[in-house]
Amino acid sequence: TANLRKQDPEIVKALNLELGRQRDNLELIASENIVSEAVLEAMGTVLTNKYAEGYPGKRFYGGCEYVDIPEEIARNRAKELFGADHANVQPHSGAQANLAVYLATLQPGDTVLGMNLAHGGHLTHGSPVNASGLLYNFVAYGVDEQTFTINYDEVRKAAFKHRPRMIVAGASAYPRIIDFEVLGQIARDVGALFMVDMAHIAGLVAGGQHPSPVPHAHFVTTTTHKTLRGPRGGLILCTKPWAAAIDKAVFPGTQGGPLMHTIAAKAVALGEALQPSFKDYAANVVTNAKALAESLTAEGINLVSGGTDNHLMLVDTRSLNITGKDAEHLLDSVGITVNKNAIPFDPTSPFITSGIRIGTPAVTSRGMDAAAMKKIGQAIAITLKNAKDETKLDEARKLVRELASQYPLYQGLEY
Ligand code: PLP
Repeated sequence: TANLRKQDPEIVKALNLELGRQRDNLELIASENIVSEAVLEAMGTVLTNKYAEGYPGKRFYGGCEYVDIPEEIARNRAKELFGADHANVQPHSGAQANLAVYLATLQPGDTVLGMNLAHGGHLTHGSPVNASGLLYNFVAYGVDEQTFTINYDEVRKAAFKHRPRMIVAGASAYPRIIDFEVLGQIARDVGALFMVDMAHIAGLVAGGQHPSPVPHAHFVTTTTHKTLRGPRGGLILCTKPWAAAIDKAVFPGTQGGPLMHTIAAKAVALGEALQPSFKDYAANVVTNAKALAESLTAEGINLVSGGTDNHLMLVDTRSLNITGKDAEHLLDSVGITVNKNAIPFDPTSPFITSGIRIGTPAVTSRGMDAAAMKKIGQAIAITLKNAKDETKLDEARKLVRELASQYPLYQGLEY
C-alpha cells in the first residue's frame, strides 16, 4: 500500500485503526466474518476498472473477454458447491439478490408469506420501510410462544388462508435448524413459489452443517460475506426454468454494471468453500456456538429457545436486568462486539430491545476453539453482571486481550 500511504494518509490512518480494532476485539456479530488474505487481494485489483453489463459471452461493452473468466468460474463454483442448476453472482448485496427474485416472480400487490421480522426474519422479507413491504403484500409467520421455534402447522394454516404467490424462508436471528423440506412441501401444496434466503447459514450449508434448501426451493439467495466467508455481496441460485428470468431481473432489472473485482473475490471464496478444510470450519463454527451457549447457560444467562443448532444464539437480557442496547454498549467497552437484537415477543422497541445476538463465525475463522468459547462466555457474563464494577470489567478486558493476542489476525498486514 505504498502509493496509498503516500497519497492519502487520512484514509490509511482509518484503515489501520479498523485493522487494530479487528485484531484487538472479539468479533461476535453473527453476520460478520474474517476473509482470507487471498479474498482481500482479489478485491483490490484492476477488475474494478471494467464495465461488464450483461453476462459472460453476452456483454454490452467491449474488452470483457478476461473479466468473463472469473465470473464463469464463480458461477460454476457456486453451482458445484450447492448443487444448483443456475447461479447468478452479480447481486451487489443480499438485499439486491432478494429484490431481483421478487422482481422476477411477483407483481406489485402480490401476497407473500415471510418470517416475522420481530421473530428473526429480515428487513427484505416484507418490512414496511423496505421495497419488499412497500411493493408486495407480505404476511408474516413467526415462532411458537412456548418453544420459540417455527411452528410449521401455523405456517401451513397461514399458507392455506392467504394463498401466497410465494413463501419466503430464512432469517437473520434464528438459532435453530429450519426445515426447508417441510416449508417446500407447504409451498407445493398451495401452489406457491418457494424462496429461501440462506444468507446467515450459507457457509453451514456449504460445509454440511445445515440441511440444504437447494433441493426444495425454486430460488435460494444468499449474501457471500457471512458464514460463507467471502467478500460483501449477494448470490442467487435457481432452478433451470427460472434462470433467464433471474438473470434479467438482476441486470437490467435492478442493477447496472457488475462489480467484477468483487465477483473475482466471490470466485476465490467459493473455491475455498469447496476445499475439505471448509467442512472442518463449518463444523467448528457450530461446535463453538454450542460451547459458547453452554458457557452462557452455565452462568445463568437465558438463551432464546434454550440454545443453538447453528452459528448464533440470542441472549434474553431481561434475565440480567439490562436492555439489549445497554448490553451491546457494555460489551463494546470491554472489547466484545455484538449487536442488540429484538427477541420474539419483545416488549421493548427495536431501538432498545431485550436481547443481543451472538455468533461464532468470525472467532472461529481466527482459529478459536471450544476452550476459548468458554472464556468468552465467562467474559460476557462478568461484563453483563457487573455493569458498574470497574474492577470486574477490567477482569473481562484482560480475558479479551489474552484471547485476542493468543489468536492473532492478519499477521504482517499493515496499511
Ligand atoms: N438476508 C438475510 C437473511 C440477512 O441476514 C441479510 C443481512 O443481514 C440480508 C439478507 C441482506 O444482506 P445485505 O446487507 O448484503 O444487503
